[in-house]
Amino acid sequence: MDYQPRTDDIAALLFGVLDAPQQLGALPAHADTDGALMRQIIDEGGRFVAERIAPLQRTGDETGCRFEAGQVQSPPGFRDAYQAYWQAGWPALACAPEHGGQGLPLVMEAVLYEMLSAANHGWTMAPGLLHGAYDCLRHHASAELRERYLPRVASGEWLATMCLTESHAGSDLGLVRTRATPQADGSYRVAGTKIFISGGEHDLTDNIVHLVLARLPDAPAGPKGLSLVLVPKVLPDGRRNTVVCERIEEKMGLHGSPTCVMRFDDACGWLIGEPQRGLAAMFVMMNAARLHVALQGVGLLEAAWQKADAYAQERRQMRAPRTDGSAGAGPDPIALHPAMRRILDTQRAWIDGGRVLAYHTALELDIAQSHPDTARRDAAQRWCALVTPVLKTACTHQAFHGASECLQVFGGHGYVREWGIEQIVRDSRVAMIYEGTNEIQAIDLLVRKVLPDGAAALCALLDTMAQEPPRQSRGFTAMHQRLARLRALAQDVVAACHRDGTLAYWIADDFLRAVAIAWLDWAWEQIAAAPASGGERWTAPAQALQSWVLPEFDMRHAIITQRMGRAAQATGTHDVR
Ligand SMILES: Cc1cc2nc3c(=O)[nH]c(=O)nc-3n(C[C@H](O)[C@H](O)[C@H](O)COP(=O)(O)OP(=O)(O)OC[C@H]3O[C@@H](n4cnc5c(N)ncnc54)[C@H](O)[C@@H]3O)c2cc1C
Repeated sequence: MDYQPRTDDIAALLFGVLDAPQQLGALPAHADTDGALMRQIIDEGGRFVAERIAPLQRTGDETGCRFEAGQVQSPPGFRDAYQAYWQAGWPALACAPEHGGQGLPLVMEAVLYEMLSAANHGWTMAPGLLHGAYDCLRHHASAELRERYLPRVASGEWLATMCLTESHAGSDLGLVRTRATPQADGSYRVAGTKIFISGGEHDLTDNIVHLVLARLPDAPAGPKGLSLVLVPKVLPDGRRNTVVCERIEEKMGLHGSPTCVMRFDDACGWLIGEPQRGLAAMFVMMNAARLHVALQGVGLLEAAWQKADAYAQERRQMRAPRTDGSAGAGPDPIALHPAMRRILDTQRAWIDGGRVLAYHTALELDIAQSHPDTARRDAAQRWCALVTPVLKTACTHQAFHGASECLQVFGGHGYVREWGIEQIVRDSRVAMIYEGTNEIQAIDLLVRKVLPDGAAALCALLDTMAQEPPRQSRGFTAMHQRLARLRALAQDVVAACHRDGTLAYWIADDFLRAVAIAWLDWAWEQIAAAPASGGERWTAPAQALQSWVLPEFDMRHAIITQRMGRAAQATGTHDVR
């Protein structure tokens, strides 16, 4: 069974819960984007994904990418599907009209990207970096570079890569050694080897635009000495640049995406932005990419859930217990066994709650870009800065662990290839690793975003969440209390980390999880509060959230408190709540 986009669910959350058309109506750039247009895009995108992309998922895995004499051959059907994709204008959805785009909001691209990732993670890696590359060029490249590359990156006629990682420089990009040497004509010669480059070489497009982190001569050591250089596969005069794909990796999953070792042999390139401001330029791309990776997580879990749910309705084993104690004839569908219901409903709690948070963040990105009020734009930026690392980490963690739970629903049939669930488990694992590992995201949240301002921005965001129109329900009161406990915990953590320089690194993962669970609860309260959401559809996942997800908050709280207590004992000072 191929993944089928559940466009009604997506629309219910986007319109019924998040009120997206009204929020976008406040932005002059999107004043014309009404609900009808958005629904049409969701439906057409869903149709394209179901008809053209989902059917290639299995061949992408089984045939995979082939490497011969420096060339990468994509799995059968991938090139045709990509050509159809860009010619239909999908990559340009949220690019500016002056660059040939359709000028639609980023939230529409987020929805499309979730559906693509669910349908075929391997294929979707190819266009996955396009919008980030577009933003990076748009904001940082010279007028000449923009004129030459922006329209073709915006349209997707040429694909782009992000060349950061080297064999000795992964999480620590300050160790990058690739060099860029200025030439008399204003160009640069780039020399070095990058590894793990997604789509470094392929046959989907005629040209590939590599964005390469490199060090100029005499640049200081560390991350501050890095510059960003655009290195095309094919030069403007039509000659092939000296960029060589040495090999592609044999991987656990994601076989439809070539992961390349790229050698730059004094390749010709041009600087993007200021010298030694490469990381700042690249971060534009990486932040967009991180939200996309969170959406990959949501999409992959949805795909795994769809398979498991369909199987659980069909497969019959033993008698399921009845609440009234009566014995049915049996064997019953395994979907009726509480152990299986627990697995299925818990994943839905993560999928729909994760969706609300991810779409909300995409809307905040739209607001950050074009709201007329500066204070509102700043608030949106703060939301994105805090929520993006949490979403990337929580959604990708759940995609892998939840997909593995969905495999359990198949019993032994999940472990063999026939049903395709094992592919999702293998494919989804990487999302916890790339775009900054989940451990690095947790450190980013606590050490770079919470501690420096004494948790002020986080507390302000929690206060905003707590101000939602109050409702008389047990769930709402409990959510309120949880947000208040998180607020107090954040302040304790700040104080404790000031006393002990290593503490933040010990508790960063638990802190991020506590934040993620509290926000997932908040997302579900948004669903509960929406006027049209009273349907049965949301009842079981909302109960699963209460029973099997929210208790983790207390566990994380206890772990952090215990760790702070130990640190306090060691320094002989602290009294924690
Ligand atoms: C399929 C795939 C596609 C990829 N695509 C791209 C791409 O297109 N472009 C690109 O540039 N790169 C890409 N990467 C590389 C990816 O971004 C890196 O693998 C990732 O950043 C981690 O680097 P590393 O593998 O060197 O691990 P390391 O940095 O060596 O980390 C190893 C472990 O140590 C942990 N760790 C490291 N430092 C710390 C710390 N300070 N605190 C706590 N824990 C720490 C990490 O979390 C990890 O668990 C890809 C990787 C894969 C597998």
